[in-house]
Parts: sequence; structure tokens; C-alpha cells
Amino acid sequence: MRLLYLLLFCTILIFFIIFNLQAQDKLEVSLFDGKLQLMGTDWFLIFNGDFYQLDLAPEEYLAEKNINLETNSNFRGEGKLSNNVITIVNIHTVDNIVDIRNQNGKPLWTEKEDLGHFIIDRRKCIGCQLCVAVCPTNAILMKYGFAEIDAGKCIDCGICINGIADYKGCPTYAISDNENKINKK
Ligand code: SF4
Ligand code: SF4
Repeated sequence: MRLLYLLLFCTILIFFIIFNLQAQDKLEVSLFDGKLQLMGTDWFLIFNGDFYQLDLAPEEYLAEKNINLETNSNFRGEGKLSNNVITIVNIHTVDNIVDIRNQNGKPLWTEKEDLGHFIIDRRKCIGCQLCVAVCPTNAILMKYGFAEIDAGKCIDCGICINGIADYKGCPTYAISDNENKINKK
């Protein structure tokens, strides 16, 4: 019996350590909202009356994501502030949130994003979570109020698009087949 308790204790301890290590990997981000200023080749954000340098993504990558920065325009995004430099993780546009780094702060422009077979268009997603409830592998998660598919967990069953039982597919047709560009709309 003692051995059983010891085993149980060790298992809980290992889970606790793994959970903490994963949590430490995640970048703690805050929301920054201010006006942009270009100085030389660097972008700065005037936020709460102070200037902060922005660590963004290469211009070509931002342009690919339809983000064009302009002096004196409003900027809203999440990032981590350190030594007066804000490492931007995502940029909030009028109708979207564009990730430029992953949750651990790793740049997305250095690697080809694995979008997987199925993708969700945030501009159409209303956050109803119906797709989340039916996904058999829990591959659909809510992020910033929108559904997002974890390509690593998705088994391409198609339920989120085609529906099952009372779920008749995404009500706003936000989910598409990335390869065949199939969208029920
Ligand atoms: S069913 Fe459609 S609208 Fe609802 S959360 Fe999923 S993707 Fe978004
Ligand atoms: S295709 Fe299937 S496994 Fe993949 S996200 Fe949709 S419901 Fe989940």
C-alpha cells in the first residue's frame, strides 16, 4: 500500500513539474495600444506617454498578412515588454488578430506555418464553440474568442465542416478545407 502511495505521489510530482515547465515556456503578454512612429528603420509605439521600440516581423511578412504600418496610425497588439522594447506576438487589425509569433515568442516567419488540412477564418467565426464541442480529438480550441484548429491533433475527419447529429456544420461557414478550398458557402 505504501508503495502505491509513493508511486501516486511520484506521478503527481512528475505531472506538476511538466506542467510548470510548459507554463514557463509561454510568454506572458500584455496588450499595448498607442500611436506608431518610425524613427530611422525602427518602429516605436507611443504608449501611455512613453516611447517603446517595437520588435516586429520583417516588412515582407507583415505585408503578406495585409499589415501596413504608418506613422501616426493607431496600433494595437499583444507582446512582452523588456528593456523598453516590446516583442510583439500578435497585431490586432479591425477585423482580425494576426499572430506574428507563437505563444512562446518564436517568430512565425522563420518557419512555414503548418496550417493543416482544415482551417478556420477568424473573420467569419462568431465564437459559438459548436465545432469545439463536436471535434472527436479536441483539436479545436478557442483563442482570443475565435476557434482555431491544432493541426497536430486534427485527424481530418471532416465533422467540423460536414456536421454530425444536430450539428449541421459551422453556422457561418468559417471552416474550410485548406487543400481543396471547400467551403460550404
Ligand atoms: S462553429 Fe464556426 S462560428 Fe462557431 S466557433 Fe466554430 S468556427 Fe467559429
Ligand atoms: S476535421 Fe475532425 S479532427 Fe479535424 S478539427 Fe475538424 S472535427 Fe476536429
